[in-house]
Parts: sequence; C-alpha cells; structure tokens
Amino acid sequence: MLYGALEAGGTKMICAVGNEDGQILDQVSIPTLTPDETMPKVLEFFKAKLEGVPDDDKIKAVGIASFGPADVRKNSRTYGNILNTPKIAWRNFPMLKTFKDALGDIPFGFDTDVNGSLLGEVTWGCAKGLTDAVYFTIGTGIGMGAMSGGNLIHGMLHPEPGHIAMSVIPGDEYKGHCPSHGACFEGMASGPAIQDRWGKPAKELADNDAVWELEARYLAQAMTAVTYMLSPQKIILGGGVMSQPQLFPLVRKYVLENINGYIDTKELRNINSYITPAALNGNQGVMGAIKLAVMASEE
Ligand code: ADP
Ligand code: ZN
Repeated sequence: MLYGALEAGGTKMICAVGNEDGQILDQVSIPTLTPDETMPKVLEFFKAKLEGVPDDDKIKAVGIASFGPADVRKNSRTYGNILNTPKIAWRNFPMLKTFKDALGDIPFGFDTDVNGSLLGEVTWGCAKGLTDAVYFTIGTGIGMGAMSGGNLIHGMLHPEPGHIAMSVIPGDEYKGHCPSHGACFEGMASGPAIQDRWGKPAKELADNDAVWELEARYLAQAMTAVTYMLSPQKIILGGGVMSQPQLFPLVRKYVLENINGYIDTKELRNINSYITPAALNGNQGVMGAIKLAVMASEE
C-alpha cells in the first residue's frame, strides 16, 4: 500500500510517497513561501498520486507533520490549522482543511513536526519498540515531541518545553533571544540565540569550545527537567544545532551531574544510548508522516 506524507517545515515542504515499511519511494521539496505560492505545488504532488493512476498505485491516506504551533486537537473546530506562528502568512492557515478540500474523502493524519519525527524514530529508528520517548529539535526554534505509554502527547494543545525558564549560567550575560520570555530555553539555546550571543552563525563557531560548553549546560538543564517530568526511556536530539557532535558527550555529562544519582535506572546507566542523535538520516520527519498516514487509514 502507498501513503502520502508531508513534512511541513518553516523553510521547506517535503512531500513524499512511502509504504507501510517506511520506505520513501518518491520525494520532492518545495520552498515554504506564502500559502498561495506554496500550497498549489504541494497539492499538485499529492493529486498526481490519486487522479488518473491505477487503484494499486493510489495513496490510501496522507499524514501531515507540521511546524507549529498547530491545532492537533481532533475535536477542535480549528483542528489542523496552523496557529499564531511568527510566519505571518501562515498564521491561522487551515492546513488540513486545504488538503481535504483538494484531495477529497481519504483519511488524513495531522500532528506536529516533532511528534512526527518522534513517531518515525519510535517506529523505525533509534527508539524502535519504546513506549516512552521524547524528540527535541534544536534549530531555529526548540520543539519537542513526546510519547507516553505508547501515545503521542498532545494535552490541551501540545507541549512547549522550548519555553521553560533557564537558570542563567554564572558569567553568561546574554539576555536571551525569545520575544516572549527572553532567557527561556529557546531564548538561550536555539541556533539564532547562539548567533546573537557570539556574533557569528553557530556553524562557524564549531572550533570555539566555550560556545558548546555553555550550550551543553543549557541543553542539559532542559534534558534533566524532561527526565524528571516525563521519565522517558530515551531522549533523541535533532535539529541543526545538534549537528555539532561534540555537544552529545557534554550534555550527557551535565545531565548526570544534575541528577546526581537521584534516579538510578538502566537507561541512565547507559547514558550514551539514553541521550542520542536521531537515527534516520534526516528522514525521521517524513517517515513519521508516513506512519501518521498508516495510522489514519487504520482508524
Ligand atoms: P529549522 O529549525 O529552521 O527547521 P534546522 O533544524 O536546520 O532548521 O535549524 C537551523 C538552525 O540550526 C540555524 O539557526 C543554524 O544556526 C543552526 N545550524 C545549522 N547548521 C548548523 C551546524 N552545522 N552547526 C551548528 N548549528 C547549525
Ligand atoms: Zn520563550
């Protein structure tokens, strides 16, 4: 069976067709401009997988893993809408409804991009078989997908741990980059925060140990908090900033220091696999969207 998958990101829309094994069979990337510019191309990709093709080659459902904030509450009047995103053109855009109007009566799954990435990793990647795991993206923003007891967590909307308060590390005089909170997690540790604090894009700071030392301390504060609050079996760290591999050993070290022996589990004793990079080569979001489609078709 074939399934449609959209990873809707702030810079690009990855449209794909895959099967129930998570294999990606066709994929295109379309820049995220305005809805008027971008959506016709996105919808055209999926329409071509439904119209004028033999029944066996038709996609059975579409899964959408979207940048947020987005309304993921199934019983909400605005289910499937983008909410108050800083990308003004997309604010309140009815993503799911636009798909339904264009593609008609097939099943749709809709969730956040980070829940999508987590679902990909839980289904086919480094968290395969786990029931309790989280996926953080540390990029332009900071977001987290979470699964508890085998269910993707939504809550009243969806978790936003990118905005928890940070304890400022002594000596750090940076005031923070978040327009709403200043020195929250995203305000202190996102890619733009690194660039703003150090005066250069994060990528160009690879050799400056002080940058990653400080970054790891903020990351570890958040990973310690999520360990206490959700008790995940694994924490997966993705996003552009985490392409600095030297962060991983530092974050692990500071998380263990913070916890200070208070929790004693086999997962924490195996810290290298507890805090780990994404394993699906950047395809975790698209593969998660495939799984969202599979799940929608089974509902
Ligand atoms: P987005 O969050 O926009 O979907 P990314 O996850 O790629 O996209 O995050 C982009 C951010 O990651 C930028 O702020 C950039 O500074 C940072 N980034 C990208 N590549 C690297 C790198 N190699 N090392 C450190 N930071 C990076
Ligand atoms: Zn904030």
